[in-house]
Amino acid sequence: MVNRKALVTGASGGIGSAIVGAFVAAGYETYGTSTSDAGAEKITQLIEQGGGRGCGLHFDAAAADGADKLMSALKDKDCAPNAPNILVNNAGITQDNLLMRLSDDDWSRVLDINLGSVFRLSKACLRGMVKERWGRIINISSVVALSGNPGQSNYVASKAGMIGFTKSLAAEVAARGVTVNCVAPGFIETPMTEALSEEQRERVMERIPAGRFGTADEVAGVVAFLCSDAAAYMTGETINLSGGLYMR
Ligand code: NAP
Repeated sequence: MVNRKALVTGASGGIGSAIVGAFVAAGYETYGTSTSDAGAEKITQLIEQGGGRGCGLHFDAAAADGADKLMSALKDKDCAPNAPNILVNNAGITQDNLLMRLSDDDWSRVLDINLGSVFRLSKACLRGMVKERWGRIINISSVVALSGNPGQSNYVASKAGMIGFTKSLAAEVAARGVTVNCVAPGFIETPMTEALSEEQRERVMERIPAGRFGTADEVAGVVAFLCSDAAAYMTGETINLSGGLYMR
C-alpha cells in the first residue's frame, strides 16, 4: 500500500479541521494550512493530540507565491520528493452581494482564493502523484454550484468552476492512478454558516428534508472514503452531501 501523505488547505477550523482529524485517525501523515501562525499552531496541536505525524503550515491563497512557499515548506518538513499524494483543496471564502452591487475586487478575490488556488496547488502536487502512480485530489465545492444561489454569483462561479476543473483533470490523469473528485456540501455547522442570522437559518432549515445542518465530520467521512482503496475507480465525480436539499 502507498504511504499516504495528505495536505489539507484551510484546516484551522470547520470542515478542514475535521478532515485533518479523519486523516490522522486513519494513520496518514497530515499537513494542514492556515493564513495565520496561530491557526497553523492549532493544526499542529490537533495532529499531535491525535498521535499523528505532520503539522500545521502557513498558506495564503491570495498571495501570488503562496503555493510555491507552501511546497517549499513541505519539502523542509521532509515531505519530499513524492508528496503529498493526497491533496484536499478546502480553503474557501465568501464575499456575498447581488451582482449589481458586486465589486470587481470581490469577484476576483473569491475566484482567485477558491478556484485559482485549486489550479496552483493541484499542478504543484501532481508531478509527485503521477511519478508514484497513486494520488487523490479532492476539491471541496458546494451544493450551490449545482443549484445556483442569489447573492453568490462569485462564490457559485468559483465552486462550479471546480467541478469542471475536476472532470478535466480526472480525464488527464486517470490512467496514472490519480483520482480527482469533488465533494459538494450543503449547509454544514461551521464558522462559515455561523454568520447566518436566526431568520436565515430557519428559512434554510425548512428546505432541508433531513431537518438539520450537516456536520464537518460527515463531510470528512466522505473525503476519507474518496481516499480509501474502495474509491479507486471513482473519478471526475461530485458527491452531493446536502441532507436532500438538492437532488439531481
Ligand atoms: P471556515 O471555517 O470559514 O474555514 C475556511 C478556511 O479557509 C479557514 O481555515 C481559512 O483559514 C481558510 N482560508 C480563508 N482565506 C484563505 C486564504 N486567503 N488562503 C488560504 N486559506 C484561506 O469554512 P468551512 O465552512 O469549514 O468551509 C470549508 C470549505 O467548505 C470552503 O471551501 C467552503 O466554501 C466549503 N463549504 C462550506 C459549507 C458550509 O456550510 N460550511 C458548505 C459548502 C461548502 P484561516 O485559518 O486563516 O482562517
